[in-house]
Amino acid sequence: AVSANDSFVEFAGVQKSYDGETLVVKDLSLRIRRGEFLTMLGPSGSGKTTTLMMLAGFETPTSGDIMLDGARIDALPPEKRNIGMVFQNYALFPHMSVAQNVGYPLKVRGRPKAEIADRVAKALDMVHLGSFAARMPGQLSGGQQQRVALARALVFEPKLVLMDEPLGALDKQLREHMQMEIRHLHERLGITVVYVTHDQSEALTMSDRVAVFNAGIIQQVAPPSELYEYPANSFVAQFIGENN
Ligand code: ATP
Repeated sequence: AVSANDSFVEFAGVQKSYDGETLVVKDLSLRIRRGEFLTMLGPSGSGKTTTLMMLAGFETPTSGDIMLDGARIDALPPEKRNIGMVFQNYALFPHMSVAQNVGYPLKVRGRPKAEIADRVAKALDMVHLGSFAARMPGQLSGGQQQRVALARALVFEPKLVLMDEPLGALDKQLREHMQMEIRHLHERLGITVVYVTHDQSEALTMSDRVAVFNAGIIQQVAPPSELYEYPANSFVAQFIGENN
C-alpha cells in the first residue's frame, strides 16, 4: 500500500471561498512527492495562487485538510513550517544590501552572525552572485534581483519552496535562463518545489508533473509528456496546445 509518508504535501478535499458563496477552489485533492517539482498551471483566476497561499499558511481553507510531511499544516506555527517563498511581487528590501537581504531569514531565526555570513556566502555563490554581496538591490538587473530572491528563499535550507510566477517580470531570454537555473538548483538540492505559472511552455519544460487548473478544479495532474499526448479533456488539450 502507498503509505502517507510517500506524499510530502497533501491536499485532501480542500475548498476555499473568500465571500462565503463562490468557491474559488473546489474539492482539491493532490499529493506531492518529496523532491518533486510540481507546477500549478492554468488561466488567470483559476485558483492557483489561492492554493499556494493556503499551503504557505497565508489563507485558511474553508474546508478540507492540508498536510505537510505528515502533520496538519495549521498545527505548525509559520516559523516551524520551514517553507521558502519566491513571489513576483515579493520584493527585496531596498535599504538592505544583497548580503543583508539573503541573511534576513537567518537573522529572524536568531542564527549566530558567523553562521549567517557563511551561509549567505554559499547561497550567493549558488546563484552566481558571490561578488555582489555589498551591492544594493537598486544596483542590480531584474534577473540578478530574482536570483537574490531565490538565494534568500533557499538560505535556510527549507524543505519546501513555493514560487508564484517568479519570472513573470523578466524578458524572454532572462526567463529561459532563470528557468534552467531554478531547475538545476532543484535537482542539486533535492528540495520539493511547488511552482505557479500561467505559461504553458514554462510549466512543460521545468516540471516533473503539472496540475492543470480551471475554474478552481484540477483538470489533470500528469508529467508534461503525458499531458501533451493524453490530455484528459478538451480544456487541457486546448490550454496545453495554445503555445505550441
Ligand atoms: P492569476 O494567475 O491571475 O493570479 P490564479 O489562478 O492564481 O490567477 P487566484 O488568484 O487564486 O487565481 O484567484 C482565484 C479567484 O479568487 C479569482 O476569482 C480571484 O478574484 C479570487 N480572489 C483571489 N484572492 C482573493 C481575495 N483575497 N479576496 C477575494 N477574492 C479573491
